[in-house]
Amino acid sequence: MNTNDIMVLGLGLQAPWRLVDQHLDLEKKPHELQLEIAADRGSQYPCPQCQKMCSAHDFTEKKWRHLNFFQHHCYITARVPRVICPEHGVRLVKVPWAREGSGFTLLFEQAALTLVREMPVNAAARIIGITDKRLWRIVFHYVNKALSQFDFSEVRSIGLDETASKRGHNYVTTFIDMEKSSEPVLFVTSGKGKKTVQEFTTFLEAKGGKVDNIAEVVCDMSPAFLSAVKEHLPKSNVTIDWFHIVQKFVKSVDDTRKLEHRFINLPPGSRYAVLKGKNKRLTSKQVTALSTLLETKCETATAWQIKESLAWIRNAESIEQAEERINVFIEKATLLVKGNKYTASVLDALATLKKHANQVIQRWASTYTNARLEGLNSLFQAARNRARGYRNNETFIAMIYMIASPAGSILKSI
Ligand SMILES: [Zn+2]
Repeated sequence: MNTNDIMVLGLGLQAPWRLVDQHLDLEKKPHELQLEIAADRGSQYPCPQCQKMCSAHDFTEKKWRHLNFFQHHCYITARVPRVICPEHGVRLVKVPWAREGSGFTLLFEQAALTLVREMPVNAAARIIGITDKRLWRIVFHYVNKALSQFDFSEVRSIGLDETASKRGHNYVTTFIDMEKSSEPVLFVTSGKGKKTVQEFTTFLEAKGGKVDNIAEVVCDMSPAFLSAVKEHLPKSNVTIDWFHIVQKFVKSVDDTRKLEHRFINLPPGSRYAVLKGKNKRLTSKQVTALSTLLETKCETATAWQIKESLAWIRNAESIEQAEERINVFIEKATLLVKGNKYTASVLDALATLKKHANQVIQRWASTYTNARLEGLNSLFQAARNRARGYRNNETFIAMIYMIASPAGSILKSI
């Protein structure tokens, strides 16, 4: 086997393509290995549209970046024939080592995607020595290609949640399959509220799913989502995720603390002491803050106690017991905050729970067990890290798909 054979093997070249020249350009820094590929004269090539074998009409020179050869950047040039197909006219033929329109070989793109799966895109771009803009273009292409292979014919229960791609702006809404623990993401789209549900149902049907097969939807209690689900997924039962109820009460503790703190000096460390869950580890300063708060019987302490007793509802063992506990909880909590000055937000959370109690208790009837929507938060954080430095909806959405949708596995097999 000579050097030529090794190169041909590495590129996966087959007749009529062959390597006709190779040289190392030492004037470039880093040095560049230039490989020149040509096809035998007189060869026939398939029309890219109909595969009919045609003769070459003329040639045009193209260049692709290939995998590094040791420390050297490697480029492939080829004179690519254009055929005249009787039916489709003059067409550039497809080359086996690169996809149409790309300035990179397929092997190069595969290597790039492997890195992007493991690290932020800007770091991957630096390592392989291309601009981040070009790397993003590769990512977008392959994510879209993977999306075209999604199959939703088995999807029966979904969850949806919104998050900001940037702090405070640019929302994206993510839809997941509640029955899948790995790669659960089905669809991600810009914006929040009603239109996202409609977009999801369009996508679902385009991927072999059926709106009428969706028996269960888990979401938060935003009126926009709830009315959209009723309209676009009419056969589904809505469950309000417990996590969103807890979030609402956590916020009510914080709101109470902020108001009260304007008039009363709360102990240092109060903020996180009341926000952390009972079972989370508190610092010693937070432990002191919490016990001081509870001794003073301030309104923040009351709000905290109410939030903490949500666990009692959560531990209910049947749908009937959950319903009963919710009623008792609302009654007792309302009495506790009655006549208070700073707990309007707690009353608001209680009203929300009361209003949606029927959908909250569905979780006790539901077939899924884990708090999958809660897990989305760490996924969103990972996607934000990968898209660090270019945070807009397009990059954020592509990373959510790469990390947590079937696109991840599909891309590994291309
Ligand atoms: Zn043709």
